[in-house]
Amino acid sequence: MSEAGKEKTLAEQAPPSYECRSCGYTYVPSKGDSKTNIPPGTLFTDLPSNWRCPVCGASRTVFVNVGAIDAPSGFAENLDYGFGVNRLTPGQKNLLIFSALALGVLFFLSLYGLN
Ligand SMILES: [Zn+2]
Repeated sequence: MSEAGKEKTLAEQAPPSYECRSCGYTYVPSKGDSKTNIPPGTLFTDLPSNWRCPVCGASRTVFVNVGAIDAPSGFAENLDYGFGVNRLTPGQKNLLIFSALALGVLFFLSLYGLN
């Protein structure tokens, strides 16, 4: 991993994203993965070898390089990846993630109600 590119914009240096062929989850290096405690900026190739898809649990070997989908030339939502298995749009994935988070927050808040 080279540190030399840090002077350029993220868009110019956008590292490739990887998509899970099992469920369509896309690992975006600039976002990392909060579910598995991967900090933003972690390249897919730098993920721990035991890292698994946070959605379906598939191993890293089923992931394919789909290029820098967060580059400014186009938003991920507008891209057609060309994989038939990718039925879940990024929007749906976000909804899934945020509703899970909201549930967690609600549960946490309900603990305060017990006092
Ligand atoms: Zn998956």
